[in-house]
Amino acid sequence: MSEIENVVIIGSGPAGWTSAIYASRADLNPLCVIGVPKSTPSIVLPGGQLMLTTEVENYPGFPEGITGPELMAGFQKQAERFGARSLSKDIVSCDFSTRPFALETSSGETIFAKSVIIATGATANWLGIENEMRLAMSGGGVSACAVCDGALPVYRDQPLAVVGGGDSALEEASYLTKFASEVFIIHRRDEFRASKAMQQRIFDSEKATPVWNKVVVDVLGEDSITGVLLQDTVTGEESTLEVKGMFVAIGHTPATAFLDGSGIALDDKGYINLATRSSATNIEGVFAAGDVADSHYRQAISAAGMGCQAAIDAEQYLAH
Ligand code: NAP
Repeated sequence: MSEIENVVIIGSGPAGWTSAIYASRADLNPLCVIGVPKSTPSIVLPGGQLMLTTEVENYPGFPEGITGPELMAGFQKQAERFGARSLSKDIVSCDFSTRPFALETSSGETIFAKSVIIATGATANWLGIENEMRLAMSGGGVSACAVCDGALPVYRDQPLAVVGGGDSALEEASYLTKFASEVFIIHRRDEFRASKAMQQRIFDSEKATPVWNKVVVDVLGEDSITGVLLQDTVTGEESTLEVKGMFVAIGHTPATAFLDGSGIALDDKGYINLATRSSATNIEGVFAAGDVADSHYRQAISAAGMGCQAAIDAEQYLAH
């Protein structure tokens, strides 16, 4: 590929496709590098994390809800309607020291670009148990996002489990107490990592019960979860806890490994640092949008908003 692209968008979640919609409508003829399909939810997928979400009920404009894959198919169709082009490859490394920028694909080609929007997202960390993956992929009651899935009818008045002991786990558990009959917070130690205020909220809740010193060693159930097999981290003893949903909240990993050596500034957790009120990274002409640069909000709608900003910033950069 010797042609120099105006703007290459890496990633195909809400941030990537929204930037593609705006960039194509601005006549920038963007190239979207959408990723290669993978068989595990623990790595970046074309379409992003919404491809693992059954019902999306909090995306404005869909009063009856919409499935994650349907929503992302709509984003893609809308971007392609205005001329955005898609390439089913992964970017494996970036050279931002040259102009145009040089991006190497998983099949060894180099794409040259005047500007780049990084929208590769972040993936939820999973426990890595086979049945956890199977039930997460099939919508069988295993999820890594209580805010996305917790309000679904299937979880109403049911016992649910949250795994983890950080702020996310306790925030998810607190959210789930609105719907569940009881929420068990399974933590591998006997003390939460989360802030004291968050802990107090949990200790004050009549519906939340910490399950100390336990790890999940298996997820039970054929088509949907019926319980989890626990192991005590002190005694090694195994026990079963009956639940109708399991929410894994053990942290996220931003998809920035391919930026190693590229000079893009990351924070101590690996997320891209952005300029204040802008999608600009520390390298002029390189922008970022969505969860890859946002460890706080992590919502489809906030990622889409950031995608819009990145496209407008890239357009202004190219105009100058
Ligand atoms: P985190 O703080 O890294 O906590 C991850 C939790 O998962 C820890 O309790 C950890 O246990 C546990 N864990 C990790 N790997 C595990 C495994 N393989 N099996 C079982 N448990 C495992 O992640 P986070 O809760 O997502 O928070 C990320 C950052 O965002 C933090 O800085 C947090 O303060 C912030 N945050 C803030 C808010 C808020 O202020 N409202 C809300 C959400 C997140 P150990 O404790 O034993 O290590």
